[in-house]
Amino acid sequence: MQRREAEKFERPDIFRPPSERESYFLPLTSGCSNNTCTFCGLYGCKLRLRDVREVQREIDALSMYVRHGVRVPDIDNIVYAVAQRWDGRRVFLQDGDAVVYPFPKLVAALQYLNEKFPDLERIGSYATPQDILRRSVDELRKLKELKLSIFYTGIESGDDEVLLKIGKGVNSSQMIEAGRKAKEAGITLSLTVILGLGGVEGSRKHVLETARVLSAIDPGYAGALTLTLVPGTPLWQEWQQGTFHPITPFESLEELKGLIENSSFTDCFFSSMHASNYLSIRGRLPRDKERMLKELERVLSRKDPSLLRPEFLRGL
Ligand code: SF4
Repeated sequence: MQRREAEKFERPDIFRPPSERESYFLPLTSGCSNNTCTFCGLYGCKLRLRDVREVQREIDALSMYVRHGVRVPDIDNIVYAVAQRWDGRRVFLQDGDAVVYPFPKLVAALQYLNEKFPDLERIGSYATPQDILRRSVDELRKLKELKLSIFYTGIESGDDEVLLKIGKGVNSSQMIEAGRKAKEAGITLSLTVILGLGGVEGSRKHVLETARVLSAIDPGYAGALTLTLVPGTPLWQEWQQGTFHPITPFESLEELKGLIENSSFTDCFFSSMHASNYLSIRGRLPRDKERMLKELERVLSRKDPSLLRPEFLRGL
C-alpha cells in the first residue's frame, strides 16, 4: 500500500451518481480495488491511493477559496472549477470505491473535512460489498458519525451464476450481508442493478434473483441501469465472439417490470432515471408500484420505439 502511495497520484475523471451532481468531488483514490468486473470501463485499472496530506492540502485550499476567494498556488485548477458550482452541503469521495482507503486515513480525511466544513450535511462514496465487509459495524458507525452517510453500491445482479461470470468477486449472500451491515451502522444505501446482465438466456433468473437480493437488503434507494457494452471489456469481446447475447431494449423494460413486480420493500425510492436506460420511471415502492407497472405496461403493449430513449442519447 505504502509503495503505491509513493507513486504520483493522478486525479481521476469525475464519475459520480446523478444525485451527487452538486457535490464537491474529493479524490482519495483513483481506479477501483475490484477491477475484475467484465462489463466495466474500470476493468483492469490500477488502484491508486492518494497521500492523506495531499487530501488535507486540497481541503485547506478549498476552504481558503470558499471563505476568502483566495487561490493557493500549486493546487489543481479543477479544485476551483468544482468549488464554483458547489452547493457547499455535500461532498462526494472519489473514485470507484473510496471506502477502500485505509481506515485510519479515511477517518483522518473525514475528520479534517468536518473540521474545515462543520456545516456539511452529508458525505457520500461508492463502496463495493467487499469494502463494507472488510469493516466492522463499529468502524462503519464511526464513518457515519463523520457524516459519511451514504454508500452507492453496485449489486449488478442477485444471480450467483451471473455474479461469478462477471467477476464481481462476491456472491449474493455476501452482497446481502454487506447491505445489512451498512444499514445496521445507520448508513443509507443506494444500490444499482444492471438490466440485461444475464443476457437473453439468463434474463428471467437474473430478474428474480436480483429482486430477491434487493428485497433482502431493503435499501432506501435502488436504481436500475441498462447494460451498455463498453468496447475493449471482456463482456464486449464475448458479445463480438457471439457467446454473450444481449437482450433488446423492450426486453430490458420487461426485466424492469419483473424487478418491480418481484421486489418487496419497506420504503424504497426506485428509479430507472440513469441515462443508460431506455425508459425513465421513478417512484416510492411499495406506494407507487401499481402506477409504475402501468407506465411500463403502456409502453410494452405499444412496442413503439419512438417511446424509448434513442440510442445516441444513452450514456454510461
Ligand atoms: S466494482 Fe464497480 S467500479 Fe469496480 S470494476 Fe466492478 S463495476 Fe467497476
